[in-house]
Amino acid sequence: MNKYDVIIIGGGPAGLHAASNISSEHKVLIIEKDDEIGEPVLCAEGISNNTLKTFFKEENLPFIRNRFSKVTIRYKEKSATIEIPDMGLLVDRSKFDKYLAEKAIKKGSEIKLNTLALDAVLNEDHVTVKTNNGDFEAKMVIAADGVESYIGHKLGLETVCQLNDMYSCYQYVISDNSINDDEIVFDFSPEYAPGGYVWAFPRGEKTANFGLGINAEMMKSRPVEVLRAYKEKFYPEAKIIRAFSGCVSVNPLSRIYGERVLIAGDAARYADPITGGGIDNALRTGGFAGQVANIVLKEDNFSLKKMSIYHELVEKDNWYSIKRQLQLKKMMSEMTEEELDRFFTSSLGLFDGKKVFSSDFYSTIYSLKSTIKTTGLLYNLLGSLMKDKYLLKIIMRLLWQ
Ligand SMILES: Cc1cc2nc3c(=O)[nH]c(=O)nc-3n(C[C@H](O)[C@H](O)[C@H](O)COP(=O)(O)OP(=O)(O)OC[C@H]3O[C@@H](n4cnc5c(N)ncnc54)[C@H](O)[C@@H]3O)c2cc1C
Repeated sequence: MNKYDVIIIGGGPAGLHAASNISSEHKVLIIEKDDEIGEPVLCAEGISNNTLKTFFKEENLPFIRNRFSKVTIRYKEKSATIEIPDMGLLVDRSKFDKYLAEKAIKKGSEIKLNTLALDAVLNEDHVTVKTNNGDFEAKMVIAADGVESYIGHKLGLETVCQLNDMYSCYQYVISDNSINDDEIVFDFSPEYAPGGYVWAFPRGEKTANFGLGINAEMMKSRPVEVLRAYKEKFYPEAKIIRAFSGCVSVNPLSRIYGERVLIAGDAARYADPITGGGIDNALRTGGFAGQVANIVLKEDNFSLKKMSIYHELVEKDNWYSIKRQLQLKKMMSEMTEEELDRFFTSSLGLFDGKKVFSSDFYSTIYSLKSTIKTTGLLYNLLGSLMKDKYLLKIIMRLLWQ
């Protein structure tokens, strides 16, 4: 039997970053079912500049594809373009994940590719992970097995996902002369992506990751058909370079730890409930999982109580952001189409042509309470809010709930 201190299931951002955070004195194995780290890419590859700055202090990062500074939001016939300097970038996910893997390997981790974890069994003083390549044993497991995760369930955690928390996605990589390399586009029109949105994220050189995610409960047509129709209307001349389907699930598990197990990233359902972006939280939760592994290994204490430190750290770090996004998701899913029309008309009118001095658009909206001292944006915003009681009501609910 192959024995380790930690077995990490899943070689995506959560698992790889967890490994980098585990001290080299511990023996770490990462199990990945695919034959190459970072492939196949099932992602629109957008991250915020905040994420980049938080997790990558190095220079000359090899995975950056393209930076953008404008966002256009469409809703039915209306649209708004907002300038957000230094807002975000597209990464090359294949290179991004490989970069994280190199760091993990430098730290001493071993990676086994083509190795599918089939089962995990909790024993008195270890966990046995059963794979298509034999059985492995470790003092603890980090389940970072992504959106299809079942390892948490095997180890006794409640992981059932409601239909309303799932988004069914389809994406093309397209090449088209109409693509603005400096602008990301979101379209929230309910006729295309009920409960979700259509995106076009520029990869540079007039190519884009162009896809949509539809709330599974509200889905009337298959995402592939809707995206095809959308393309015919908005990008009729676009050349399709690649196509794939995928899934995002949101709304974190009520408990992301168990005896000898921590759950990180998409497996813990830590993708953003509104944007579906999960790379940032995969790195956050992965990082904490690695740190907690160091603590419990040092103390040789894998009890439920000790493992719960992980949940506390994760919630303290980012729970506020997830919670407010869940509230916004709930509110939007409860709105009638008429209410949605009013919400978007107000918001788009408010933001069109504005410049927002933040690398995080959402935090600008939500941090109004603490930015009483800032800029013309607040002045404009308050002026508009006074005139628009409906939008004011919604923002108040988000801020003070
Ligand atoms: C269409 C689409 C677009 C997206 N766009 C964005 C975006 O623009 N920005 C953003 O931030 N997020 C985006 N996301 C979400 C993002 O891809 C995920 O949140 C992120 O990859 C989560 O990282 P992770 O490490 O938790 O999981 P993953 O990256 O999914 O990694 C999990 C790994 O575990 C492996 N694995 C799974 N089961 C097993 C098993 N039993 N045994 C061994 N290995 C296993 C998988 O092969 C995979 O490599 C998108 C998702 C989709 C579907």
